[in-house]
Amino acid sequence: MSSDPSRDYRQLQLTLSRIGYFRRGTLLKRFMPCGKPGCACQATPPRLHGPYYQWTRKVDGKTVTVRLSAEQAELLEGWIAAGRELDRTVAEMERLSLRATDRLLKQLPPPKRKAPDPRRRAKQNPGG
Ligand SMILES: [Zn+2]
Repeated sequence: MSSDPSRDYRQLQLTLSRIGYFRRGTLLKRFMPCGKPGCACQATPPRLHGPYYQWTRKVDGKTVTVRLSAEQAELLEGWIAAGRELDRTVAEMERLSLRATDRLLKQLPPPKRKAPDPRRRAKQNPGG
């Protein structure tokens, strides 16, 4: 990052504009036994079936799993990576934004010390 925050911010905007499609969630690569007696997956050492690819994510608090082919999983891997880059970029933009907007706010006069309306004061609580 440079010493010029607005330049850093523009750089992040550029990064953001280059991010294509994205997905969230986790890609799993699994090997599994089938349970058939005498199958190689039951031998010692076991030769498990697979790989099987699964994309899991949370939808309304529930884990949803989708099976994928190897080719589909390869695409999804890229989209998930793009999603992570998106999150990183937005988080960094938020950090820089907070600093920059703090500076802008401090260039203006602050609010008057006391609110004149006693009704509003009475409503105040520790949370607000
Ligand atoms: Zn088997």
